[in-house]
Amino acid sequence: MAKFLRTKSISGSITDIIAEAEHTIGIITPYPNIHDNFLRRLEEADKRGVEINFVYGKKKNIPQDQFNNLKSYQNIEMRFHKDLHAKCYYNEKKMVIASMNLHQYSEENNREMGVLITLEKDADVYSDAMKEIESITGGADIIKERIEIVPQTEPNTLESPQKGYCIRCAKAIDYDFYHPYCLDCYKSWKKYKNRNYKENHCHSCRQDWKTAMNHKLCYRSFDKNKKNKEIK
Ligand SMILES: [Zn+2]
Ligand SMILES: [Zn+2]
Repeated sequence: MAKFLRTKSISGSITDIIAEAEHTIGIITPYPNIHDNFLRRLEEADKRGVEINFVYGKKKNIPQDQFNNLKSYQNIEMRFHKDLHAKCYYNEKKMVIASMNLHQYSEENNREMGVLITLEKDADVYSDAMKEIESITGGADIIKERIEIVPQTEPNTLESPQKGYCIRCAKAIDYDFYHPYCLDCYKSWKKYKNRNYKENHCHSCRQDWKTAMNHKLCYRSFDKNKKNKEIK
């Protein structure tokens, strides 16, 4: 069941939406300036590899330094829609539709109202809202596209390494270029199948490295495997 929200709980719910997102975040707002508290959370989400869809409606309202900051995110797509007046914030599970703007944060003097819906309990409303969001997004101009991580293809080696490591938890597993997770981590990756979701280790040498399902080796391991082939 949808939940009614007042000012403070709107702020709290938007924070949760950004902080808990594992796959997608959507920010639909006419006024694109964002309070530091939300901005920090968004930056963390970007680093986790969460796709951020940001649609705004008033070009002049965005401070330049914040615009540059958002533009530097790897996983953000920014769009502009001149007729946008709706305000909506969502991730893959929850959505807040509310009067509050993101440059406000728990400001008690502002009397805001909103509703929180979840995909699990309000599936029809959630999906109707998503259709509207897709229509708004489709009609908006692209300002900045997502930077896709260049997918690694399997290095041409005569012999693959025998031992590998889970790119999420570093557990020792068999080396398998197409299955770089241990069973437990694979199960949790499979829920969203986000091939750009940021992981922590090189599949071949185990060192801390920003990897992902489609980019599972550090540069050194990738090069080493290639060179093995060339020498032979
Ligand atoms: Zn694992
Ligand atoms: Zn490596």
